[in-house]
Amino acid sequence: LGQLIVSKFGGSSVADACAIKRCAKIVKEEKGQPFVVVSATYDTTNQLEKLAQLSLESTDDAQIYLNTIIKRHEGISKELEIFENVSESFKELHNEAKSIISSINHLAKVTPRLMDVMYSIGERLSSRLVAAYLKAEYIDARDILRTDDFFGAANPMLNVSKALAQENLLPIIRENKVIVTQGFISSTIESATTTLGREGSDYSAALFAEMLGADLIKIWTDVPGIFTCDPKVAEGVKRIPEMSYRHATKMASLGAKVLFPRTLAPAKRADIKVFVGSSLAPEKGGTIISGVENETPSLIGLAQEEMGETLNISIIGQKINEIADFSPLNYLDKNGVEAIEVDKDSTSSTFQITKENSRLAIRILHDYMLSFSS
Ligand code: ADP
Ligand code: ASP
Ligand code: MG
Repeated sequence: LGQLIVSKFGGSSVADACAIKRCAKIVKEEKGQPFVVVSATYDTTNQLEKLAQLSLESTDDAQIYLNTIIKRHEGISKELEIFENVSESFKELHNEAKSIISSINHLAKVTPRLMDVMYSIGERLSSRLVAAYLKAEYIDARDILRTDDFFGAANPMLNVSKALAQENLLPIIRENKVIVTQGFISSTIESATTTLGREGSDYSAALFAEMLGADLIKIWTDVPGIFTCDPKVAEGVKRIPEMSYRHATKMASLGAKVLFPRTLAPAKRADIKVFVGSSLAPEKGGTIISGVENETPSLIGLAQEEMGETLNISIIGQKINEIADFSPLNYLDKNGVEAIEVDKDSTSSTFQITKENSRLAIRILHDYMLSFSS
């Protein structure tokens, strides 16, 4: 048996037929044995939230909106020339979604429980596409990944899930077959659909990797790694080639949305490295996250998070307080940005600023931070 690689493809990586072909190429060229986890196609999860809201107002409007979602996926399947292979399952998903619309309308409430079933439609559509295109084994993640009944942000039940994974997935993997399953979705012991929280597919990938004893987790997204700041927000960002589970977790929980914050816990427990790279440009490489800690005081990156009317900006690093002459608060003040420190420990320092200052403050802090790392 070769190395088992759990590869997760995010929404933009499976946005359309071209994107899915790129993912298929990555999977086929994988040196180890791939186990594939997919998110819903780009924006579908947001559309399903909209669909749930529409269902409250008018089932007719909701049906029409649902049709556009299904049609878009059918369109992708036609472009991939796999329409015949997915049409039956798409019909079932369409019907299931229709009945969720009725239930929501009937209850006059979008309960978290109903929302989770609605959410599942997105991942089930995209994973059907990817499985059919790859001619891979389709697995419903809900049959394996069991959670408590905290709908909308469920907590995995690791022992039960692990037993299910080993019993049902390992035999398929041992036959060298590629498995395609969904991220984000799971179920209770009673088979009620749950989800791990928005953006939770990364976490699913890490959980599957842990349960199967995988050798590596690859998170394929639309950026070639984790950068010193969100590339959409600051200029001159630099890739962080390597970082520890601890720092990556810190960065994610302080707002860097490149990874779901809980992702690294299973990876750390099972000591599995996590690669983050771009499915648009796999040759560009990415970031490797592992248990290795760089002990020298250093600055790593910046994360930001909206907090209602204000914005929190955090500097993430190692032993930040031991870095000589580093005083971001003074520096911001000198540049006319008012900020207050709201949290601090040895690996992070968080400032609160008003939103109108946000872009400027982030750029100033990012430049300041980089000036310490040369
Ligand atoms: P996916 O759909 O693949 O899960 P996401 O949109 O959740 O993708 O995550 C990728 C995005 O994360 C990037 O497009 C980028 O804008 C954002 N991001 C935020 N912080 C960072 C960072 N420090 N480094 C790289 N990307 C970041
Ligand atoms: N599709 C889900 C979401 O958009 C899960 C994920 O993409 O990670 O939140
Ligand atoms: Mg994501």
